Amino acid sequence: MTLLTVENLSKSYDGKPAVKQVSFQFQPQKCVALIGPNGAGKTTILRTLSGLLKPTSGIVTFNNMNANDDLRKHIGYLPQYPVFYPWMTGSEFLVYVGKLAHLSKEEAMARSEELLSLVGLTEAKNRRIGKYSGGMKQRLGIAQAIIHRPRLLMLDEPVSSLDPIGRREVLTLMEELKKEMTILFSTHILSDADEVSDELLLLHQGKIVEKGSMDELRKKYQTAKIELSFQ
Ligand code: ATP
Repeated sequence: MTLLTVENLSKSYDGKPAVKQVSFQFQPQKCVALIGPNGAGKTTILRTLSGLLKPTSGIVTFNNMNANDDLRKHIGYLPQYPVFYPWMTGSEFLVYVGKLAHLSKEEAMARSEELLSLVGLTEAKNRRIGKYSGGMKQRLGIAQAIIHRPRLLMLDEPVSSLDPIGRREVLTLMEELKKEMTILFSTHILSDADEVSDELLLLHQGKIVEKGSMDELRKKYQTAKIELSFQ
């Protein structure tokens, strides 16, 4: 079964193409890495799939349903630079986000507790977000993105700005989450993609130039030291 199909997706800004005729499919419970250098079009693809940007052309189909407002109910999105309210506690923030997602106060409180436990922030739930480490903020951001129980979670550069501890925490959480949902995340670091993804989409100048598992790509290039690092 296919969860999401993207056909010939293109996006231009003021007539200048940023994403060009991109096509791919996702199976459920997979983790897919969108990898490419700065400016390759990763954020544009994620923002377009999440419904924040309108594609210039192309079709996005979720479970055989054409892209429309309902698509957003199935998708969670964490932007590269999420906005938090530093004076709120983690718990207050998730209850607030839950209410924005139309949960009742009781539902939002219960969901907040559930998510704080899932992302390992129960002990820090009454601490102000301004005191959280980068990794903790990123895990809170992931909790926020899945508050409405989406089937597809999209994360824009979730670990790129983190120190090694934060990076490990977030990658471990992604490993857990991919048992329950499909994850699409962007990165410019090949080792991050290698560690957690089942499949890679290599993006260069707005086009997908390779796709497949790391093993498939390694075989194709016939070397373990595959020359795909964009750093
Ligand atoms: P980065 O890792 O630097 O965010 P990226 O792979 O996510 O890179 P995008 O941010 O999608 O790439 O940008 C793709 C291209 O589109 C770049 O040339 C960028 O300058 C351009 N671009 C992105 N956003 C806009 C915008 N709002 N207006 C005009 N051009 C834009």
